Amino acid sequence: RFHNQLVELRGNIRVFCRVRPWIKEDGDCKITGSSVLTFDPMDDGVLTVANKSRSQDFELDKVFNCDVSQRQMFDEVSDLISSVLDGYNVCIFAYGQTGSGKTHTMEGPPEDPGVNQRALKFLYEEARASAWHYDIEASVMEIYNEQIRDLLNPDPINNKLEVKLRPEGGLHVPGLVRVPVHSLDEVNEISEQGRRNRATAATNMNEHSSRSHCLLCVTVTGLNSVTGDRTFGRLNLVDLAGSERVSKSQADGARLKEAQNINKSLSSLGDVINALKNKHSHVPYRNSKLTYLLQESLGGDSKTLMILQVSPAEKNLSESICTLTFGQRVR
Ligand code: ADP
Ligand code: MG
Repeated sequence: RFHNQLVELRGNIRVFCRVRPWIKEDGDCKITGSSVLTFDPMDDGVLTVANKSRSQDFELDKVFNCDVSQRQMFDEVSDLISSVLDGYNVCIFAYGQTGSGKTHTMEGPPEDPGVNQRALKFLYEEARASAWHYDIEASVMEIYNEQIRDLLNPDPINNKLEVKLRPEGGLHVPGLVRVPVHSLDEVNEISEQGRRNRATAATNMNEHSSRSHCLLCVTVTGLNSVTGDRTFGRLNLVDLAGSERVSKSQADGARLKEAQNINKSLSSLGDVINALKNKHSHVPYRNSKLTYLLQESLGGDSKTLMILQVSPAEKNLSESICTLTFGQRVR
């Protein structure tokens, strides 16, 4: 899909939308009304957002209804992930307000994992079945208040990381733990340890995770021992901080600073993708830690997928419209 005709037609950025199912936090749908989101099954790229007073259409590359399974979701991105073995750099982002299903899509519950774990397993299995030799390494990071923390470091609190430029060119993160993926047990262990370390430093896990970006970064080095050909690809799977707007009057100092940092990094992400799409000569990678860290995976022939997560409930309508508007801007 991504590989062939479409890339030539429309560049390397795709925007999907996944609608999460109705959950108890939305209230009783019989009272509050059914979903404000609809799409035409004949035209699976257009999402209509409508209530009694307004209606707006958004054009996307694909829309997934609330009954799409984790497996089906993964099937839609597996081509993209497969291209990492061919030496492509790929970023997949989950974007949306808190509670819209970002973590469900990327991490998922242990009994029904999301894209992250399925992607690692897929890469591991494809690599094993290939005639090439592949080395796969994974690291897990969190960006909170513009600080990068290593979630695979045994000391989850005192391990602030910096992004450095090598004298010979290229970025690196000194001290970052990179775990080789040699077995399926290791795949599970990486997800589990990331989850544990993320929780250790937080007093309120849910609040903390909604205000930080969580990144699973995988590097894949390939060698064909017959021809001597080599490949190097990167996969970045990013569960972004909640995109909801925070009103100045409600937030205290610390919360306001968090909100400003989130806002800054999400808008820089939008600016960077937009600049790349429009082939601007200046791409403002340096405006946030997130875009600086991902710089080498966002330009050139890299492939980017933005998964917009939205809630079906009317009370979330204005945030859903903001999310979809962000998606339209980068598409
Ligand atoms: P976010 O990470 O965007 O804050 P979550 O992934 O935590 O949102 O989702 C919020 C709630 O909705 C969770 O209880 C989650 O289990 C549920 N949920 C989200 N998406 C789905 C889905 N596709 N199927 C079932 N439950 C979902
Ligand atoms: Mg989350």
